Amino acid sequence: MSEGTAHEPSVDDATFTAVPGIGTAKNGETRRHVLAGLVVCGVCDRRMDGHRVHGHAGYRCRHGYTSAGPRPARAPRNVYAREEHLLDALPGLLEVDGGDTASKLIEQLAERGLEIVCTHHNRGLRPSMTQRRANVLTRSGRGALHLG
Ligand SMILES: [Zn+2]
Repeated sequence: MSEGTAHEPSVDDATFTAVPGIGTAKNGETRRHVLAGLVVCGVCDRRMDGHRVHGHAGYRCRHGYTSAGPRPARAPRNVYAREEHLLDALPGLLEVDGGDTASKLIEQLAERGLEIVCTHHNRGLRPSMTQRRANVLTRSGRGALHLG
């Protein structure tokens, strides 16, 4: 009698294929800010906010000041970076051939655990904070930890 139950599916394969890919924002929206989360401010170390100017995707850091609050006269200017300019600069910064697609470049960043640092005049790469934390976890943990 109990033999009949052997044909029941025991593994739900769908759960393994439902992993969201790169570019899926936290809110589930697919946005044009493909570098979201990978761009940090070289002035204050905050992650830069995706924003939009004249239809162009870009990133902005207000260094924690809000437009509502009082802003000291000596506060640093906002840092702005246009996404297309960052994508243009990436092949040089990564020292890879130009012509790679944005998603390829982003893959490279993730693989090397790098993030883009922007100041008023410069763009550069550095090991990402999350990557550094993950390395510590991996070393002290079971070693099998995988970055999503
Ligand atoms: Zn900042």
